[in-house]
Amino acid sequence: MNRSNLAINADRLWADLMQTALIGGTAKGGIRRLTLTDEDRQVRDWFCGECRALGCEVTIDEVGNIFAVRPGLRSDLAPVAIGSHLDTQPTGGKFDGVLGVLAGLECLRTVHEAGYRTNAPLMLVNWTNEEGSRFAPAMLGSGVHAGVFDRAYADSRIDAEGQTFSAALDGIGYRGSVPVGQIPIGAMFELHIEQGPILEAEEKTIGVVTGVQAMRWYDIEIEGRESHAGSTPMALRADALTASAVLIQEIDAMARGLHDAVATVGTIAARPGSRNVIPGSVTMSLDLRHPRDADLDAMEQAVETALQDITGARGMSGAMTRIWTSPSVRFDEACIAAVRRAAASGGHAMRDIVSGAGHDAAYIARIAPTTMIFVPCAGGLSHNEAESATYADCAAGAEVLLQAVLDLDQRHADGL
Ligand SMILES: [Zn+2]
Repeated sequence: MNRSNLAINADRLWADLMQTALIGGTAKGGIRRLTLTDEDRQVRDWFCGECRALGCEVTIDEVGNIFAVRPGLRSDLAPVAIGSHLDTQPTGGKFDGVLGVLAGLECLRTVHEAGYRTNAPLMLVNWTNEEGSRFAPAMLGSGVHAGVFDRAYADSRIDAEGQTFSAALDGIGYRGSVPVGQIPIGAMFELHIEQGPILEAEEKTIGVVTGVQAMRWYDIEIEGRESHAGSTPMALRADALTASAVLIQEIDAMARGLHDAVATVGTIAARPGSRNVIPGSVTMSLDLRHPRDADLDAMEQAVETALQDITGARGMSGAMTRIWTSPSVRFDEACIAAVRRAAASGGHAMRDIVSGAGHDAAYIARIAPTTMIFVPCAGGLSHNEAESATYADCAAGAEVLLQAVLDLDQRHADGL
């Protein structure tokens, strides 16, 4: 059987998306399926059953990552993996993560029904706790697998009710015995909705994801002087909140003036927080992102300079502390090329794109050749119950996923 004749069953993929969306389904049409809850257990049970029905061997590691393996012709090749996540945000949509796993299941079914034998084993992965909304941080299961976090750290994470990750994992019966990181990955592909507006706006079906942008988080503190709102003349004030307003404007202008840059002040707190007291101090958050680390260095420096200029000119002090950093990720050239060929042979309109959000693939890229495929979502909306992707785009994404996986499998076997 020629691999280019293999075609996924789009009706079946769509039916799976709609049927599993009922596990944790919300009144507004979204999903609430927080990691390691009973809803997560239910969808995991369903997932394992479907994989076993295809003859796959299902293995679970010590943090609950699930690996379903379909043997290939050669056992000396590490599996070509397809992975994403079945957990959702508290008010999540039907496609974030789920599309990647269910499209992977559809790929397995397609090769199974055709009796097609890959060279390397095929492996479908459901990563535990991608969302990070119940147990921070995000991408925990893939992070432990890639050696970014250790298992004890994962086990010690605590949710808002005080329950540990460890207890929750045991509670749903999904702690496996295989040590984390022991399952080899020859390469991994992750299909995901874009979670942004670019593909839809440009009427492209496939985003060829070349990497994940660098991200850094900061806390910024500005110290002025509290004083009476009525008796302090304007010229004699050290108002930390108005200084913050000027800084936020400058940060916004800086990012607008740089190609591909984004900057966000998402929280701000002024103290003492009284109607008739001039704010003496302000704390705010800052999120800076750019596809290139060097440009992010320049953005960081520009904010630092603006902070010192603005506070210095007003007789105040300012401090900026970096609290989290995630370097840029460049995906694997051979995997990217396989996606490009698959999209081209399917006749799909495509463009290169850099992911603005983090994904399991960003961590797996540290240990194996990895890339991602994006499909559009309506209005770029995600982490929202109204999140939506079309039947045709989901089908196109799954088809490109299948052909890219088989293409890479052939090239690996040919020693290319
Ligand atoms: Zn996701």
